[in-house]
Amino acid sequence: MPSVYIKTYGCQMNERDSEAVAAQLVARGYTLAKSEAAADVVLLNTCSVRDFAEQKAINKMQNIVGTARSEKRDQIVGFMGCMAQSRGRELIDQLPDVDLVLGTQKFHRAGEYLDALLSGTRHQIVDVEAEAKSEAAIREHLLNGKAKSSVSAYVSIMQGCNQHCTFCIVPATRGEERSRSIPDLVAECRELAASGVKEVTLLGQIVTSYGKREQREAWQSRPPQSAADASGDEGEAVADQTPVAGRMSPFVQLLDAVHAIEGLERIRFTSPHPKGYGDDLVEAFARLPKLCESAHLPLQSGSDRILKLMHRGYTGEKFLSIAQKLRRARPGIGLTTDIIVGFPGETEEDFEQTLALCREVEFDNAYIFKYSPRRDTPAAAMADQVPLAAREERNQRLLDLVNGIAARKYEAFVGRRVQILVEGPSRKNGARFTGRTRCNKIVLFEGDERHRGQLMEVKIERTGSFTLYGDPAIHL
Ligand code: SF4
Repeated sequence: MPSVYIKTYGCQMNERDSEAVAAQLVARGYTLAKSEAAADVVLLNTCSVRDFAEQKAINKMQNIVGTARSEKRDQIVGFMGCMAQSRGRELIDQLPDVDLVLGTQKFHRAGEYLDALLSGTRHQIVDVEAEAKSEAAIREHLLNGKAKSSVSAYVSIMQGCNQHCTFCIVPATRGEERSRSIPDLVAECRELAASGVKEVTLLGQIVTSYGKREQREAWQSRPPQSAADASGDEGEAVADQTPVAGRMSPFVQLLDAVHAIEGLERIRFTSPHPKGYGDDLVEAFARLPKLCESAHLPLQSGSDRILKLMHRGYTGEKFLSIAQKLRRARPGIGLTTDIIVGFPGETEEDFEQTLALCREVEFDNAYIFKYSPRRDTPAAAMADQVPLAAREERNQRLLDLVNGIAARKYEAFVGRRVQILVEGPSRKNGARFTGRTRCNKIVLFEGDERHRGQLMEVKIERTGSFTLYGDPAIHL
């Protein structure tokens, strides 16, 4: 049977999509190759978030095609994912040896298309059309076939995003928000728990908007029952980001349903939007013990002026109040963020506001990005693009600040006992095992295979760069 090698660029959503494609191909009889040179089929699952990521994938493909040609090997090669979606046929015009371009709503067609290409019944396929219900097709897992442990798993709950932040290409590459149903997701999580998975991470481009579009459409399509309904008042209330008293957002309903699954010990989610942290979600952190005390809160900027230009829909003050509420609901919660420096029009004063907010919130970690214009996004056409030198300088200052705060936070763990879920051997040092705290910090310890999959306590003895070192033999 043909062998396949999938290389993934970008975020966890892409990792999950690659896993689902690999599982689909294995179910059809394909084997997983250990390297691209040994594979009959090579697929690059691409990312469009930064120009650099796109360029890397294109260079990689040129390299693969060139090597196969010089070694006189027949190989089917394809792009899939975000760049495949945004560039489509243009990729084949640029690289005529590419056989397949598979968009973000077409992952489930990978097997059928590859079979056709391998058998020669088709020659070059580009499919980037929208397809209804494709979000529900990212379902199969490869628990025992992947190098990583099967202790934790990603579950794709939705696709797309309607927020249209002005710097972001995701709405163009992933389309409108589309959510899977709660029963379907619960069934998938149950199957994972039955096969030994202890931790699930619910994934989507904007998970806190999970189910809102479907809820809104359901309300809008029901026959009017009262004067208020006929005027659309109720529909408006449901469409609001903040749930009315006593009503849980679909995302919190999903968290409740997954929480009830026996065998699952931990639940995480990413990526949320700060606007989605309504009181019901904050309260869920206090109420649901399996929901880990770890939250990602993408700030992007501390300046209200820049947040407005970014179309983020919150202010610095609102953001701070969400962080404070989360800390009250779950003391010790780990908070991480994403920040863009040098967004068009960002002045030194705007940037100072970002620094001030970071000092106030004290994130456990921050992913900092120098603004990079993406084609077809409103921000790329904005005036006052910030020169690269200024972006780099701000990037370094912010990095110094967040690293200093994070180092203090990590240092505070020394001497404490924490619960970890052991994932498997460390990638860098096979003699060490790696686990994750509930607040999402990596812990390395001298372990062995018998620890894999265990929830265990370790005592933290020292820290490294964004790593804790623990001792599993606890002496009281
Ligand atoms: S909410 Fe996230 S995925 Fe959606 S447009 Fe904004 S940055 Fe992009």
